[in-house]
Amino acid sequence: MMRAENASATVDGNALAGLLSDAFAGESTLLVGVCGGCGSSAPLAETVVELDDTAAIVRCRSCTHTLFTVLRDDSGVRVVFAMLRELRSS
Ligand SMILES: [Zn+2]
Repeated sequence: MMRAENASATVDGNALAGLLSDAFAGESTLLVGVCGGCGSSAPLAETVVELDDTAAIVRCRSCTHTLFTVLRDDSGVRVVFAMLRELRSS
């Protein structure tokens, strides 16, 4: 049987379950974010956060671009992505 070594498969999003669990397991502020504005990478704990009752605006400490915003209201929590290019587990 012929089979390419690097064959990929197209499946539905259920296949992400294990990957996303691995990515977001543990302390979330230890996740490393990469800024799409300046390219710097740092743990989320080192970002600059503007906080009020309904929102947390998360900014890159190097260039001050907004990486993402976390919004909380009666319907739950929403994360709106901005300049965050990458989120890494280490
Ligand atoms: Zn930046």
